[in-house]
Amino acid sequence: MKVGLPKAMITYEYPVLYTRFFELLGIEVVFSEDTNTKILNDGIKYSASETCLANKIYLGHVANLVERKDKEKIDYIFIPRVAFFDKKETVCVKFYALYDICKNTFDAKFITLNVDYSCKETEFKAFVSLGIRLGFKFSKSVMAYVRAKKAQDEYNKKEYNTQVKKLLNNKNILVVAHPYIEHDKYIGYPVIKYLKDNKYNVIYSDVNKGILKSSDEYKKLSKMLYWKYNKNLLNGIMEYSDKVKGIIFISTFPCGPDAMVNDLVIRKIKNKPILNLVIDEQDASAGLYTRLESFVDILEQNNIVVGGNV
Ligand code: SF4
Repeated sequence: MKVGLPKAMITYEYPVLYTRFFELLGIEVVFSEDTNTKILNDGIKYSASETCLANKIYLGHVANLVERKDKEKIDYIFIPRVAFFDKKETVCVKFYALYDICKNTFDAKFITLNVDYSCKETEFKAFVSLGIRLGFKFSKSVMAYVRAKKAQDEYNKKEYNTQVKKLLNNKNILVVAHPYIEHDKYIGYPVIKYLKDNKYNVIYSDVNKGILKSSDEYKKLSKMLYWKYNKNLLNGIMEYSDKVKGIIFISTFPCGPDAMVNDLVIRKIKNKPILNLVIDEQDASAGLYTRLESFVDILEQNNIVVGGNV
């Protein structure tokens, strides 16, 4: 059996969990290609115009798998539905709707799982029920989930330890963005590449000790926050902001959670140069590089401390 995974949004939040689960059940995983112009244009074509760029790109990745499914014998495309982690911890509503949108947009076979603690659908239950629906025994499905979860935890720990060692560098820049934004070839990659080409040491706010154990550090910036993935980014800001020369926020247009949270946080961070990049589908790279160049110039001015946005 072969399962297709769109290389966008939720897949980046769990880079090991989904793949390991399928592999442990003996299912081959096929990823969509890296984001390219065709994927972007297909995403725009299949999406409602008012949705965020990240969501549009997701649909472009699904279209990429749908196109390849017959040639590469992909049996199902996997679109998880992740909603609530507890009553007060949820994710952006775009994640709730992915499966339904894809099912109603494309002609292909989809499989899903439903993580929604508000109706007692735990992650454990969701994975085990997916394994059973795919024809595997209860015990094998449990084993696959437990081992995949452990592999994801070990991956998180390794990423975190590697990043902490990198902090010894004195050219640290903190990038605050969801993993599906900072690692996407169209959205975040040009920014990260520019920084690395200029010998900066990129620190990612989503890789922090909060992903190893629950952390309430984010409450020092926002007590009321209930979006799980934004909480994690704020935990990263709390952990790294005093160890970096500057901070770059990257979000996509139009993003409700990031617009609210980033704006609030940027006003609270003092004495640190900040660049706030909001990328949309028309973003010309010339404008992006001009802003990055002027930000780097500020950082290089003999470490003069400058507050506010560039
Ligand atoms: S958090 Fe923002 S970028 Fe992410 S899916 Fe929601 S609206 Fe899109």
